[in-house]
Amino acid sequence: MADVLTYVLHYEGELNKNSLGAVSEGAARASEIGGECHAVVVGGEDLSDDLCRSLGAYGARKVFRARGPEGLAQPVVDVMAKVIDEHGHAYALFGGGLLGFEIGAGLAARKHAGVTMEVISVRAEDGRLVAERPILQDSQISVSRYQGDLGIIIGRINAFEARAVNGGPAEVVDVDVEYSPWSTQAEMVQRGEQRGADVDIEGADILVAGGRGLGNAENFKLAQDLAAAFGGSSAVAATRAVVDAGWYPYAAQIGQTGKTVAPKLYLAAGISGAIQHKVGMQSSENIVAINKDAGAPIFEFSDLGIVGDLNKILPKLTEAIKAKKAS
Ligand SMILES: Cc1cc2nc3c(=O)[nH]c(=O)nc-3n(C[C@H](O)[C@H](O)[C@H](O)COP(=O)(O)OP(=O)(O)OC[C@H]3O[C@@H](n4cnc5c(N)ncnc54)[C@H](O)[C@@H]3O)c2cc1C
Repeated sequence: MADVLTYVLHYEGELNKNSLGAVSEGAARASEIGGECHAVVVGGEDLSDDLCRSLGAYGARKVFRARGPEGLAQPVVDVMAKVIDEHGHAYALFGGGLLGFEIGAGLAARKHAGVTMEVISVRAEDGRLVAERPILQDSQISVSRYQGDLGIIIGRINAFEARAVNGGPAEVVDVDVEYSPWSTQAEMVQRGEQRGADVDIEGADILVAGGRGLGNAENFKLAQDLAAAFGGSSAVAATRAVVDAGWYPYAAQIGQTGKTVAPKLYLAAGISGAIQHKVGMQSSENIVAINKDAGAPIFEFSDLGIVGDLNKILPKLTEAIKAKKAS
């Protein structure tokens, strides 16, 4: 059996983008080792048949649906352990994020399985899956090969891209689970941004990131105006230097000690491109940097570099985008 099991988080009728990436990755890799990708969902009446079936569009062939508390790790561990016991999945794959880390670690302990975290790439080798993760500040790649019946792969957030496939609707299988006593001890009181602010940078398609080159907290308005001009799924992000200076909330920090993102466009304004920042945004599809120093390291990994003063360039860009949209 070479099937891959994933967990899909949902909220108010929407499936989490990071989880959909895990389903896509699970489906692609499972097909290379002769298996299928299946998903576990846990929740209440909002988990409609249609919502579950829609995971077929990302490559899931079966969706195991359990009634229980959504968004908490331990109940999901109970459900996944039961599904794996009964169906013999060879791998459990998660899209990263705090919940994925917690569930993956809990499942590893429960099933005595090997686990690799912060994975950026998974490949098939001799009929088995191999996980790769960066180590030593992303300067080297460590390769994990799994022994035993189950391997657990936890991606770096947004490492796996959600890709629609031509699959039909997934089969929905209801699972009855007797939750462990400890799994029902916690209840969801409130959902919100885990690091204390209401900034959604992980889900944004366009990020305008500001660094110390903005000069002060008030100047973040230049970045906010540009993000607003882009509209749609755009947000403002920040470097640690400015977060530490209190110019912008920690929830928006990108990098080693912040969040990892992979938007379609990452526009870095007044950011030097330190390695600790780079590790959080280097997977972005397009990187555009504005910096007054032509020798700034960020230009080494930018697709487009603009050498100049952001105080002049950002307002002009904002006006140009507004004009383009109005035309
Ligand atoms: C253990 C550890 C963990 C870390 N974790 C993180 C992390 O998660 N995220 C993170 O970001 N950093 C992190 N750092 C800090 C990191 O090393 C850098 O110090 C930080 O990223 C620098 O932020 P910056 O680019 O905003 O500032 P700076 O390095 O000061 O760069 C400012 C840039 O703005 C340019 N500039 C100035 N004025 C203008 C202007 N008017 N127009 C255009 N350009 C201008 C300058 O030329 C310069 O390149 C960490 C450090 C350590 C030691």
